[in-house]
Amino acid sequence: MSSGTEIQGGGRALTPQREVVLRVVRESAEHLTAAEIYAAARRIRPSLSYATVYNSLRYLKEAGLVREITFGNGASRYDRETARHDHALCTRCGALLDFDLAETAALMRLAARRSRFKPESIHLTLMGVCPACSAAEQRRTRRKGAR
Ligand SMILES: [Zn+2]
Ligand SMILES: [Zn+2]
Repeated sequence: MSSGTEIQGGGRALTPQREVVLRVVRESAEHLTAAEIYAAARRIRPSLSYATVYNSLRYLKEAGLVREITFGNGASRYDRETARHDHALCTRCGALLDFDLAETAALMRLAARRSRFKPESIHLTLMGVCPACSAAEQRRTRRKGAR
């Protein structure tokens, strides 16, 4: 498949494989894992191998076109939003939401002072229950009858 539009990466044209991988990340509102990106990229370009997708992700990350985020021991997820932002992670369904707090800069200064680290970046992860899971849990509790 060859589309007329070319995505530029770091001033250089991307290889068709990397272009497909970047497109998948950019077109998704989700924070996909490498396995999910592989599945979606294969639908566009069936000849892609997992290794190519994985290497492309590493390249795109180094070129600053995508962001890799990891939570504890979970699989890495890839983010199309490369500017600094924070995340809320649902401990029930794994939904991941972007948000940005103006207060984070002040928090970073405080954390740096406390730890005596020279700060480079800060990333907040709010762990909790997303609205959908929380509504589902409420429905379940209601069905069982309040104790
Ligand atoms: Zn959830
Ligand atoms: Zn994000």
